[in-house]
Amino acid sequence: MASDLRPGGGTPLLIDGKLVPGSGGVFATTSPTTGERLGWAADATATDLDAAVAAARTAFDETSWSTDPALRARGIRQLRDAMLDHLDQLREITIAEAGAPRTLTAGPQLDGPVRDLGWFADLTETYSWRTDLPIAEPLGMRTARQLRREAVGVVGAITPWNFPHQINLAKLGPALAAGNTVVLKPAPDTPWCAAALGILAAEHTDIPPGVVNVVTSSDHAIGARLAADPRVDLVSFTGSTDTGKAVMASAADTVKKVLLELGGKSAFVVLDDADLRAACAMAAFSVCVHAGQGCALSTRLLVPRARYDEAVAITARTMAGIRPGDPDDPGTVCGPLISARQRERVEGYLDQARRAGGQILVGGGRPADRPDGWFVEPTLIAGLPTTSVVAREEIFGPVLVILPYDGDADAIRVANDSPYGLSGAVWGTDPDRVEAVVAGIRTGTLSVNGGTWYSVDAPFGGYKQSGIGREMGVAGFEEYLETKLVAYPA
Ligand code: NAD
Repeated sequence: MASDLRPGGGTPLLIDGKLVPGSGGVFATTSPTTGERLGWAADATATDLDAAVAAARTAFDETSWSTDPALRARGIRQLRDAMLDHLDQLREITIAEAGAPRTLTAGPQLDGPVRDLGWFADLTETYSWRTDLPIAEPLGMRTARQLRREAVGVVGAITPWNFPHQINLAKLGPALAAGNTVVLKPAPDTPWCAAALGILAAEHTDIPPGVVNVVTSSDHAIGARLAADPRVDLVSFTGSTDTGKAVMASAADTVKKVLLELGGKSAFVVLDDADLRAACAMAAFSVCVHAGQGCALSTRLLVPRARYDEAVAITARTMAGIRPGDPDDPGTVCGPLISARQRERVEGYLDQARRAGGQILVGGGRPADRPDGWFVEPTLIAGLPTTSVVAREEIFGPVLVILPYDGDADAIRVANDSPYGLSGAVWGTDPDRVEAVVAGIRTGTLSVNGGTWYSVDAPFGGYKQSGIGREMGVAGFEEYLETKLVAYPA
């Protein structure tokens, strides 16, 4: 039977297998497209969080979940199938709540990560949980050694609002496949996407009570509490670098493992032999997707000084042609920002750019034809030094900073002149020069001449202050495992 994922009175929490109201009542969810109230979500307090962590602890310690890969594979596939059966409802929720353009829900905003759950279920069945190492003679004793991989335990998953399903499932999929139990704490801006997951897990799967818990809350402190809880073994966090540092500090007291996917200010490097038109158009287009609310988007466009004016003209023309629109419209790529607060943040950066002498060549304000909701125009900024705040900090809006460089070595230097190292792009025709730039940039993912790195089997994550660890791929799955080495006399 189909589940109703948008109950009128507010979506529930999932604690110990039961769908329950929040002990803090409900909090309002808001449409980023209109600024109007959408509905309500359960507001978890510390009491609810404590119950969820206790349930996850008990499910890990006292059920066969961590030692039964067949049960896990079945449970994950049931969750995937339930999501597939409810894709229409999930799509409308995602567009309404996250302001995600409808076109993106056919890919990374929904359909992609839901289908990708199957990859983690398959991995549960094919992974080598035990590996024999060769006989060795440490200290003169012939010894047989076995390497075992085991679940870490209770995972606290804390997620942001920009790609709610992708990020929730990129944590839940591998964490569950590896045999962990999970408490998911989503962003206050997108509680429904997570609550829907909880409803479907409870109503359509054999996943035992306590293995998956979902606590939506209006209170960020619930995330901090989850990160600090001594019953939690690993915190998997995606969000801003500042919050990531706070999560690390909260987790330090109990020396729990942290997996951090943080911010970025990635460089799109156009070499002087590249197809300038194609490269700059791609850079201009991609920074507008989902109103620039993607951690891995390239938000600094590095172009050779000798071709600077040409590059500016192409980029400006492309960005001027992209109008922010209703995410419900299949033709929209640039929807609204998530909240009034986020729009103020972006506008604050635009003011800083002006004050620092930057030239706003396209956009720079709110679109006149979108008086409601939290829209910002695609904005191209030139004339800023690489040291300026706007050229260095993550803005999380449809804002591109164009910077000139002098020679390939300088391009690498400028690309690396950032506290971040999440993603980026290189365009050029000479393979040796492209390779030298690829090797020189310190970043977790790179696209060459438009190649796509995003895929469930490809690890994603950051160098430097963009994070610790990897998400997705076998490497991402193994983040959720401990290593036990057992030695026997041979
Ligand atoms: P945020 O850091 O404000 O919040 C993320 C989550 O952390 C939310 O669930 C929030 O409630 C919770 N939280 C807030 N304070 C906390 C604390 N002290 N301890 C524990 N949890 C706390 O991020 P956001 O504004 O929701 O999302 C935007 C940011 O996320 C951007 O910086 C973006 O780059 C980053 N992001 C990174 C990736 C990645 O994979 N690297 C992906 C998407 C978004």
